[in-house]
Amino acid sequence: MKILVLNCGSSSLKYQVIDMDTRNPITKGLVERIGLQGSELTHGTALQEKVVIKTEIKNHTKAIELVLEQLVAPEYGALKDLNEIYAIGHRVVHGGEKFAKSVIIDASVMRALKDCIELAPLHNPPNIAGIKACQKMMPGIPQVAVFDTAFHQTMQPSSYIYGLPYEYYEKYGIRKYGFHGTSHKYVSQRAAVLLKKPLGELKLISCHLGNGASIAAIRGGRSIDTSMGFTPLDGLLMGTRSGALDPAVVTYIMCRENLDVDQMNDFLNTKCGALGVSGISSDFRDIEVAAKQGNNRAQLALDIFVHDVKQYIGAYATVMGGVDGLIFTAGVGENSMSMRAAICKNMSYLGINLDLEKNEVRGEEVDVSKTNSHCRVLVIPTNEELMIALDTLELTHRKDTMHRAPTIHHGLVKSFP
Ligand code: ADP
Repeated sequence: MKILVLNCGSSSLKYQVIDMDTRNPITKGLVERIGLQGSELTHGTALQEKVVIKTEIKNHTKAIELVLEQLVAPEYGALKDLNEIYAIGHRVVHGGEKFAKSVIIDASVMRALKDCIELAPLHNPPNIAGIKACQKMMPGIPQVAVFDTAFHQTMQPSSYIYGLPYEYYEKYGIRKYGFHGTSHKYVSQRAAVLLKKPLGELKLISCHLGNGASIAAIRGGRSIDTSMGFTPLDGLLMGTRSGALDPAVVTYIMCRENLDVDQMNDFLNTKCGALGVSGISSDFRDIEVAAKQGNNRAQLALDIFVHDVKQYIGAYATVMGGVDGLIFTAGVGENSMSMRAAICKNMSYLGINLDLEKNEVRGEEVDVSKTNSHCRVLVIPTNEELMIALDTLELTHRKDTMHRAPTIHHGLVKSFP
């Protein structure tokens, strides 16, 4: 059974076709600069080669049309016929409070997605465009929406309500939503498999540390708090995003630098974080190199990041009343041994004892803690596409088999009746 997974950004489209028997992608690719000059598609063929197509790609409909052509291209396509695609899973950034889990897309879901545009004006419109394009070009193939926010809908009001007049929550939906939910959910389920314990009994802290970074406290498989908020700008210092600030700083900078709302928004999202502090790069690899060469501001950016992550770990261990597993995932979390070591330093008071030798790994699913570490430290490469495909298969297959439930092992769908 094959699932097409689509991730539509404002000017990009990432896709994979996943074979659900092996759980591996059989082809994947990326369309860049949609609606801009110099648009192109890079397609990984079934033969593990790359095909680059440079052509005008006006909009998401055109992009998806081009992708579908590549999937069935006679010379290198991974599929003989588009009908081999059992269902399509879409990553949708914002589901607001309407969606606490993935859903099969129908007319009422489309209406609800449109209602969420106000909350994610940059992200949701391309998601909707991608869904519409698929409906047009692959009518009859079921489509599922998988939301970045859904996993965090289990948070309690004490975690998600801000110290603002309550009417602003009621009127405008201003609250903490949290993001990276698909990733936090995937790695927490894998952690339970690795630790050979039921997810329902575990207290986990998941650190998704990439260009965008967030941390989640997950008790019994449910998100109870997370560092990103109303938008993905909150929480940790990130590649180019400021992370949490005294809110008064925002108005102060707007006055001093004479910035309007859009300019300030752009500033906080693209010119701050590790880039702003280091003055060198938003890429943690570049910053680590510069810090090793003695650049003080690069070192300061790393120190702030480590300090922020440690603070959240301490806070979330307190909120959950302990921690059984600390998970590192995404670009920095999966690959940077030095950052993992710095974050775990002097954390034995929480039972966190990293084994520096085991920690010498990149991108592997492995326990890197000392044998006597009460809290297990795990490196788990995230796989949001697989999680989207699993949710998509579960929902569509369940519908097909008239509500017969799939077999679930440790929360990850393994096989179907
Ligand atoms: P996103 O999906 O948010 O763009 P990723 O999860 O791909 O982010 O992570 C990108 C970040 O991971 C970059 O800052 C990059 O420098 C960092 N990264 C990747 N590999 C390494 C490494 N070996 N050491 C340190 N940082 C790394």
